[in-house]
Amino acid sequence: MFEVVAEDLLGRIGKLKTKSGKKIETPAFLPVINPVTQDISARWMDENLKARIVITNAYILYKRLREEALKIGVHRLIDFDGVVMTDSGGYQVLEYGEVEASPEEIALFEEDIKTDIAVPLDVPTGLGSRRFAEESVEKTLKNLEATLKVLSERVVKSALWVGTIQGGVHIDLLKQCAEKIKEMGFDLYALGSPTPLMEGYRFNKLFEMITAARMVIEYGKPLHLFGAGHPMIFPFIVALGVDMFDSASYYLYAKDDRYITEFGTLRLEKMNYLPCVCPVCSKISIDELKELPRKERVNLVAKHNLYVCFKEIAEIKQAIRDGRLIELLEIKARSHPDLYQGFREIMMNDGLLKIMEQHTPLYSRRGLNIFDKISLRRPEIRRAKNRLLENIFKERLGKKAILIPYTLKVSPQKIERILSGRNLSEYDLLLYGSPYGLIPIQIRYVYPFSQTDFPNDLIIEDEVVDSIIQQISSAGYREIIVVEAKNPYLREIINRLVEKLSGRDIEIKVTSLK
Ligand SMILES: [Zn+2]
Repeated sequence: MFEVVAEDLLGRIGKLKTKSGKKIETPAFLPVINPVTQDISARWMDENLKARIVITNAYILYKRLREEALKIGVHRLIDFDGVVMTDSGGYQVLEYGEVEASPEEIALFEEDIKTDIAVPLDVPTGLGSRRFAEESVEKTLKNLEATLKVLSERVVKSALWVGTIQGGVHIDLLKQCAEKIKEMGFDLYALGSPTPLMEGYRFNKLFEMITAARMVIEYGKPLHLFGAGHPMIFPFIVALGVDMFDSASYYLYAKDDRYITEFGTLRLEKMNYLPCVCPVCSKISIDELKELPRKERVNLVAKHNLYVCFKEIAEIKQAIRDGRLIELLEIKARSHPDLYQGFREIMMNDGLLKIMEQHTPLYSRRGLNIFDKISLRRPEIRRAKNRLLENIFKERLGKKAILIPYTLKVSPQKIERILSGRNLSEYDLLLYGSPYGLIPIQIRYVYPFSQTDFPNDLIIEDEVVDSIIQQISSAGYREIIVVEAKNPYLREIINRLVEKLSGRDIEIKVTSLK
């Protein structure tokens, strides 16, 4: 049903197959289709964006188009032959207090209209108080049980069923809810996400919720996030293990004259240009767009907003395939300080990074671009440094080290001169001046060492110098010869090493290659 074909961090490219045999690739963005108004039709999305999955609301269908939906099914009703997911109406509970249908009625209705992916009637926590959150978890679990029970009476089921995790920002409740839902057994999981968190730019809280849910549920099952809001957060939620997400923002923003860019939203009235070359923006000027009657303007802005969302998904998928999702995060984190805050919290979470390390490929066809101290915490760097410590820099009993500048073009003649009569077998030849600390000369071309690009001044960060000290201590070198370099940063490393190693029982000699 779901197969992971490539991964990077906790993000993955997956293949999801429905019960009727339709296949989609994840991560997938599901535009919300209003089944009554069909402001931007599902067919248009299919033809123009290659959208193969959309989401619509089963409760609205049940209330307003029941007979027709039962007669022709949801696909014909919205004129879309791809994968249709139906939300249950839980959102209406949050907005209007109650829905006039039982979980059993909604479940059977979703089956009867032949939806591909069905969400049971849940009770969203939103940003509710702890007491409200406890109640919403309890009611949701009860509804899910009722749904599973009524479904068990059906021999043939047409939909994949989703277990929706509630609990909101109350992480302990969210985890408990996820544990119980996991025990019940669903085809997919979903996380109810409080839209106000995103509107309030509390991205770190949202990321914490996703992480908590992802840690509980099985890795092999897809996770959906409700109401993913803005494309600037797409790479982050994917990196945390979200496979699918829906949003109506493209239309809601358009109705509010807000134009989505990959780094944020702009207000139409404050725009002088259209910074986009999508099929909408390349055919109209900003002034013409502003002057259009409201209905046409909203329609065009909504379409542009959709193009931006779909472009973002393609970019994320390519980044996963290239093993450089984290570089996309580093760039996108700069969209807003609150997003940067959320990103930093991800990168400071050692437990999470450790799990990401397990899912980050050992090799990548693209090199590593390292920018700053946060980049140094990348899973690939942590892994390479740990491997050096575990496999190279230990039990080098009686060995001495010669530290050679990373920038030096090493030839046998130069090594002869560096040794100047010393016996090679007594020495480890190590390169200094890379973000990895010291690299044995024999493995300098092994991935990722020579495939890493970094700014020159990064190598004097404390983290890098401390790595060298740790490697030297772990190896137990007592005598170290450092070959001097002209580069000021490399010279600075030598100064720091001499300073940090003073007082220890280690002899350091600095020599130059004349
Ligand atoms: Zn555009």
